[in-house]
Amino acid sequence: MKKRYKIAILPGDGIGPEVMNEACKIIKILKKKFNLMIETQEYDIGGIAIDKHGTALPKKTLKGCKKSDAILLGSIGGPKWNSLSPKNRPEVSSLLYIRKYFNFFVNLRPSLLLNKLNYLSPLKKKIVKKGFDILCVRELTGGIYFGKPSKEIKKKNQHYAIDTTIYNKYEIKRIAKIAFQEASNRNFKVTSIDKSNVLQTSKLWRKTVDKISKKYPKVKLSHLYFDNAVMQIIKNPSKFDVILCPNLIGDIISDECGILTGSIGMLPSASLNEKGFGLYEPAGGSAPDIQGKNIANPIAQILSLSMLLKHSFNMNNLSNLINYSVQKTLLKGFQTYDISDKKKFITTEQMGNEIIKSIIQDY
Ligand code: NAD
Repeated sequence: MKKRYKIAILPGDGIGPEVMNEACKIIKILKKKFNLMIETQEYDIGGIAIDKHGTALPKKTLKGCKKSDAILLGSIGGPKWNSLSPKNRPEVSSLLYIRKYFNFFVNLRPSLLLNKLNYLSPLKKKIVKKGFDILCVRELTGGIYFGKPSKEIKKKNQHYAIDTTIYNKYEIKRIAKIAFQEASNRNFKVTSIDKSNVLQTSKLWRKTVDKISKKYPKVKLSHLYFDNAVMQIIKNPSKFDVILCPNLIGDIISDECGILTGSIGMLPSASLNEKGFGLYEPAGGSAPDIQGKNIANPIAQILSLSMLLKHSFNMNNLSNLINYSVQKTLLKGFQTYDISDKKKFITTEQMGNEIIKSIIQDY
């Protein structure tokens, strides 16, 4: 019997519902064309949930996520809720809560620039003439963002603040394994980034990654210090394949790689836990500056759906079909506002429709 899958759809705030609408159109087409047993159920999250239910993460939403096989999220937050206290802001009280609740320890952030689309990159053409295809594998539940103590201290007329960086071997091993497995299905290269010339946690990171690499003899491992890595990526992004990073370093490196593709509106992400359960969302936020204008780029949301099909449902063919159709649509010259010359561009809905046309043609 065919397996049934459930996706919890959380459109959220700002441009979230606009771009989610395009991803849902694609789910509908795929279901029809391939006779897929995928059920979708929409839930409120973020600012809209505060307005409607008095909380950014209603019980019904969390329950809906728990009984689903994967979560597809739009974006959360916006100026309307900025005046709330930090812990009540929708980003913290819903998104960070969900990430912690499901223990999403790995964050996958692909950044792909096709050589024929290299004019989109802010880098000089001669640097990106071959394009690039980088996958950042970022550790998401450890390191300085979660280490304790993390607080301000007032003592003897002094006012300090302290954050703590902490990693154990187990945390490093499990994220390193993911990086090597991903590289084994790509171009067999892992670059691990740390600051082991200074930090103890980085020394343990490097030793542990070296040890794990022995189990993957086909994958070439190299190490870079964080400061050098930032420069090398700008200088020659094409030489990278999988980049493995601790939490804070990954936060910065994944955004750097992302913007080199031209727009945050085309960058998907996946956050996964040890059971392979995942949350899939655009790398960008709710973009209040363009909300309601029908000009947001839906590609990040559509590629997040593609990652969901691959990582949570093992539907690699359909994931590849979506990726190919997105690339084909861009190569035909269709551009949303963010990647256009600002004179000639298509709307969010039109971009979704063009990608659907390619999906139908290419199958
Ligand atoms: P942002 O990513 O929302 O916007 C930054 C810039 O990128 C804006 O100019 C925006 O128009 C543009 N942009 C983003 N996505 C786009 C798309 N799909 N198409 C075209 N252009 C796009 O970052 P911000 O302005 O710093 O944050 C706005 C709100 O989003 C804040 O409340 C922030 O906390 C929240 N946020 C949420 C998430 C999330 O839901 N995961 C992530 C980051 C920020």
